[in-house]
Amino acid sequence: RGSLLNVSKLRVVFYTYRGVIKALNGVELWLNEEERLGIVGETGCGKSVTALSIMRLIEQPGEIVSGNVLFNNQDLLKLDENEMDKIRGKKISMIFQEPIAALNPVFKVGFQIAETIAHSREITIKDAYSQVPEALEMVGLDWQRTKDLYPHELSGGMAQRVMIAMALAARPKLLIADEPTSALDVTIQAQILELLDKLVTVGKNAVILITHDLGIASEFCDRVAVMYAGNVIEVAKSEEIFNNPLHPYTKGLIESIPVIDKSRDLKGIAGTVPDLVDPPSGCRFHPRCNRAFDKCSSELPSLLEIEPDHFVACHLYN
Ligand code: SF4
Ligand code: MG
Repeated sequence: RGSLLNVSKLRVVFYTYRGVIKALNGVELWLNEEERLGIVGETGCGKSVTALSIMRLIEQPGEIVSGNVLFNNQDLLKLDENEMDKIRGKKISMIFQEPIAALNPVFKVGFQIAETIAHSREITIKDAYSQVPEALEMVGLDWQRTKDLYPHELSGGMAQRVMIAMALAARPKLLIADEPTSALDVTIQAQILELLDKLVTVGKNAVILITHDLGIASEFCDRVAVMYAGNVIEVAKSEEIFNNPLHPYTKGLIESIPVIDKSRDLKGIAGTVPDLVDPPSGCRFHPRCNRAFDKCSSELPSLLEIEPDHFVACHLYN
């Protein structure tokens, strides 16, 4: 469905002492060139697992059980590690929530950026070094003042700028940003998003922005995919998700966004996120859904196009 990326029927499990966690339950996701897709949902709904699966970074005790991840019509799940190495960090790069933890603590920032540039553009480290000043400048950091710092000497905002510089050094087709601003304070968050926005527009790369904040997703992205308990349950254009949510869970999410008017309490959604070792049968939202009927507990609804460009996985619309 997307010209750049097509994820279909993606299933991922984690084997734990408590039992098998059914983390992804047939995820459907697609993306066009230069498009920005937001993935939103509560903690544990599978946003990060989806991103890591696309990058083929799911490790023991996790396993991708089935599905396809077509990137430029090539199934990434069928590539060997060598072939994947030509994609990861080159055609698809990723930035994470904890930028300092993603950097190597024992090397200076300048060297780490040079190393990433060398790997991603397949040039020597010496040639890569000459491009570090520009890479740092692009993200608003001063080369002289930054190059000799170690990761622990960076503020969270600076470290995220360094990660962005490294991720974009390869001029990837797709940038995956997993909660890139959640660990930062609010003013820095806004600066980082503004910077990302600018660089992505210039670089013309597609973006998947993972966030638990529907507001951020809809502001930054063209389309938003809402995830619940291991499935994408609704996808639509950003304004559409806000103005015309169809899935009961998305409706609840939007009603729970705090409003300035003090007379309205934060509503929230009743019930808790299900345990994915023993997930609810059928629609995984059914124990919390006030619209549930018989079919909901026995059949998993598929993601269908209910209105033009508006996809919903819910039996109410079937
Ligand atoms: Fe609610 Fe049923 Fe729709 Fe699930 S399929 S969201 S339980 S109405
Ligand atoms: Mg996460």
